[in-house]
Amino acid sequence: MNSSNDLELLLLTLVIFAGSISTVGFPMEFVQLDLDHDHDNLDRLMFGRGFFDGSLTVDPADLHQASVDFGGLTPLPSQGKIMAVLRPGSVNDVVKMVKTAYVSRRGFAVSARGHGHSTNGQARPYSAPGVVIEMSNYNDHETVMMMIMKPNVVIDGGDRGSYVDVWGGELWIDVLKASLEYGLAPKSWTDYLYLSVGGTLSNGGISGQAFNHGPQIANVHELEVVTGKGELLTCSEEQNTDLFHGVLGGLGQFGIITRARIALEPAPQRVRWIRVLYSNFHDFTKDQEYLISLHGKPNRERFDYVEGFVIVDEGLINNWRSSFFSPRNPIKFTSVGANGGVIYSLEITRNYDESTSRVVDQEVEALLKKLNYIPSSVFTSDLPYVDFLDRVRKAELKLRSKGLWEVPHPWLNLFVPKSRIVDFNKGVFKGILGNKTSGPILIYPMNKNK
Ligand SMILES: Cc1cc2nc3c(=O)[nH]c(=O)nc-3n(C[C@H](O)[C@H](O)[C@H](O)COP(=O)(O)OP(=O)(O)OC[C@H]3O[C@@H](n4cnc5c(N)ncnc54)[C@H](O)[C@@H]3O)c2cc1C
Repeated sequence: MNSSNDLELLLLTLVIFAGSISTVGFPMEFVQLDLDHDHDNLDRLMFGRGFFDGSLTVDPADLHQASVDFGGLTPLPSQGKIMAVLRPGSVNDVVKMVKTAYVSRRGFAVSARGHGHSTNGQARPYSAPGVVIEMSNYNDHETVMMMIMKPNVVIDGGDRGSYVDVWGGELWIDVLKASLEYGLAPKSWTDYLYLSVGGTLSNGGISGQAFNHGPQIANVHELEVVTGKGELLTCSEEQNTDLFHGVLGGLGQFGIITRARIALEPAPQRVRWIRVLYSNFHDFTKDQEYLISLHGKPNRERFDYVEGFVIVDEGLINNWRSSFFSPRNPIKFTSVGANGGVIYSLEITRNYDESTSRVVDQEVEALLKKLNYIPSSVFTSDLPYVDFLDRVRKAELKLRSKGLWEVPHPWLNLFVPKSRIVDFNKGVFKGILGNKTSGPILIYPMNKNK
């Protein structure tokens, strides 16, 4: 391990599945906006016809839908009641709603919701009753995108290269599809693409490409944001800089992203996807750190994606996320010398296209030679770039068909400094967790300066 380099941190994602789902629905009597009636009869205006281009709903089913998220946990007592859901039909609708809350003497909370795939009610109004603005409106996504903004790809954006302008509620899968029409794609990803642009940009958007390109928030040229006062502002590194940096990774607390300008690169055609196993944690982290130290090198001298996961379950190595292993050829713990202990999988990819396909085998081989994994544990697959990026969707559909997607998902993301990751392995992976979880546990390195 290159222990002298304090710039590197290890990212840990923990997902542990638990029992049955618990949700809260609000009866109609709560559905009364707490507005200042003396101030222009705002509630009458808002519910009146023609105020919004989209729609404001107080239907209990809609309120219920806006109150649940992928975490599926019971809301905290501090979370405010959802009294109405706005499905915007224009940017102006978002402006109007926030301005209404701002000018109302007593005020009410407004929260943006993307695809609702966060946990612990992150997309709900916090501490005060309020309105949820459903930015992704997945009931009628296509119509909304037609009404508000379809992704607009710019191939030659001067100094900025190629980029795409997208609505804040757009899903990453649709950003990908729109960019691919021009042979382009965003550079940095999350493992799952059915998340909204505003949702991941208000968090971070981290995946195996982040060691090289930085997280998704480091690949945005410009944002259009509705601030807490209801102003519509453009912000970037050059303009309204504080707002730009506040909103990126700001958990929706500094404004609502209505448009994002996202950097694009030429889309690779295919991906060589490799997994190797380790029984020794030191070898595993040393190799992960070596691989991310190659960031910025020419493509042929590094991998394009570096992730990894921890297997604490004594059963099969397969789980819903690591569907890479063939179910017809399941791997047993004992076959990789883990002897019932914890094992670690390094997951790496190399992107390529027709022009580089001849040399890709040699280049991958040369990089693998520098690693210290269990020699018999190499699993390789080759697939189109889009299939690789959209890999978790397959697992989602499988789980949905068995009724196993809509269950609670307690979830924890941690950045662990490199100096403490060995202790973490000992205390958590080998200690607290034992073999008590079958949820995915991802562990991968990040360059802090990215
Ligand atoms: C299966 C799965 C895999 C995942 N994989 C990864 C991964 O690899 N890497 C990673 O980084 N994350 C990952 N995540 C986490 C995910 O990126 C975040 O939970 C993200 O916030 C979800 O996006 P969403 O559109 O569902 O947001 P929501 O859950 O709807 O909202 C999340 C937060 O964003 C705010 N927000 C939403 N839209 C806007 C907007 N337009 N403007 C301002 N704020 C807004 C909300 O107010 C809230 O605070 C994963 C989640 C799931 C369910």
